[in-house]
Amino acid sequence: MLALEFVNTLTSEEDHLDEWLSSRDLPCSEALRELRGHVEAAVLAAREGLEPDLAPLNAALRGAPAYDVLSWSGVVEVARERDGDEVARALALLAGAAGELLASPAVRKVKTCEGPGCRLLFVPAHPRRRWCDPATCGNRVRVARYYQRHKD
Ligand SMILES: [Zn+2]
Repeated sequence: MLALEFVNTLTSEEDHLDEWLSSRDLPCSEALRELRGHVEAAVLAAREGLEPDLAPLNAALRGAPAYDVLSWSGVVEVARERDGDEVARALALLAGAAGELLASPAVRKVKTCEGPGCRLLFVPAHPRRRWCDPATCGNRVRVARYYQRHKD
């Protein structure tokens, strides 16, 4: 899910935003870092059924309005394009992805990983899943419990 990938670029140890943006051919900008904070706050509110602050997301969407462009290449093709500069288009793209999640029932299922020191958000494949990744965070918890039990 693009919106959660975006939010999860900030882990408790590192900020991977610039790398992530580059890997998607999106520009690096402080405006995108700010938007990430707004998206995270909105998701955390919406999952509790509270009204999220949508103004920053709407501003990002307004900054690069989208429209369809028809073209002919033997058949008619439809492509979605946006007005605005590179940063405005990236802001609108990610605000749009956040909007899709916020408007979907999946937002009520978003969980914060219970792994020690982990802050990643995820939508569990089954409701009892507690970790962003059972192979890393889940395993860390099991190892910690094992040592706790065998301490004495
Ligand atoms: Zn985790």
